[in-house]
Amino acid sequence: MEFDLIARIRARAATRGDVVLGIGDDAAVLAAPVGMQLVVAMDTLNAGVHFPQDTAAADIGHKALAVNLSDLAAMGAAPAWCTLSLSLPQADAAWLDAFLDGFLALADAHGVALVGGDTTHGPLSVCVAVHGFAEPGRALRRDGAQVGDDVWVSGTLGDAAAGLSIALAVRAARVEDGDAATLRTRLDRPTPRVALGRALVGIAHACIDVSDGLLADCAHIAQSSGVALGIDVDALPASTALRMQVDDVEARRQLQASGGDDYELCFTAPVQARDALQSAARVARVPVARIGRVAQGQGVVAHDASGAPWMPPRVGYRHFD
Ligand code: ADP
Ligand code: MG
Repeated sequence: MEFDLIARIRARAATRGDVVLGIGDDAAVLAAPVGMQLVVAMDTLNAGVHFPQDTAAADIGHKALAVNLSDLAAMGAAPAWCTLSLSLPQADAAWLDAFLDGFLALADAHGVALVGGDTTHGPLSVCVAVHGFAEPGRALRRDGAQVGDDVWVSGTLGDAAAGLSIALAVRAARVEDGDAATLRTRLDRPTPRVALGRALVGIAHACIDVSDGLLADCAHIAQSSGVALGIDVDALPASTALRMQVDDVEARRQLQASGGDDYELCFTAPVQARDALQSAARVARVPVARIGRVAQGQGVVAHDASGAPWMPPRVGYRHFD
């Protein structure tokens, strides 16, 4: 049974020139490019925790790889290979095929080869590891923010959190179209900002991907860099769908500042780099917005457009609270 499933995966997985030996042996053999550093990330998605139970198999496949590619993007690394550990409640070939539709389409879009994994029986859980390359010493880190830097974010914030609250509110019924469906798609199919991450190398001082909520992730940069981040909650970029679905300003601020699952990049860069950043964003075809400044001190201070302090009701998602 397990071998049937693995055969299905193997038949569809694409390869690349630097894969010496892919799926089928005890381990993969990979040829890392000379002179590059290997950048490795791993993320697990558990049913009911990281995606609603009703999530379509293809969306789970997409998201499992997307959140990992987002981690490499946040490091400014170029993705190359991935491995996939699947825990499945039953050997359901149709489910696996749909899962692979989502997973492999995203892998192909980024030229990533699935080179191995593990397939076991158990509650639905998907663990992916991605491997990529960065020029020596040039990976984007959380600890490089400098006093005086601007704080930037890509894309729009709050869509996925709004999509989740709509999903929870309407329960089983999947929203079919309109703004609610757009928001749900942002939850189910995050877009890893890989090209932007690459374009930020040599420009950004620090970078993180926004997975737990903007302010929570900014706090990681502040902590690692030994600085304070000031964030203007009224400067956070909002999609049209979010503005249409959530007209209460305070509710929208909360979704944008504290909601999770955005998978945008948040980064700091010197003021002199503003033009370079806008060109990088154009090359990567994703808008970027300036949302704050780095100052001396520690932690994250959020304020509204008038400069008055803004207190989040809750800062990001924590698994063990
Ligand atoms: P072993 O017992 O030696 O670990 P497995 O039967 O687990 O062998 O795996 C056989 C081959 O199939 C290995 O190359 C492994 O990497 C690959 N494989 C197993 N499960 C997956 C999966 N979910 N995705 C990709 N490759 C997989
Ligand atoms: Mg194995």
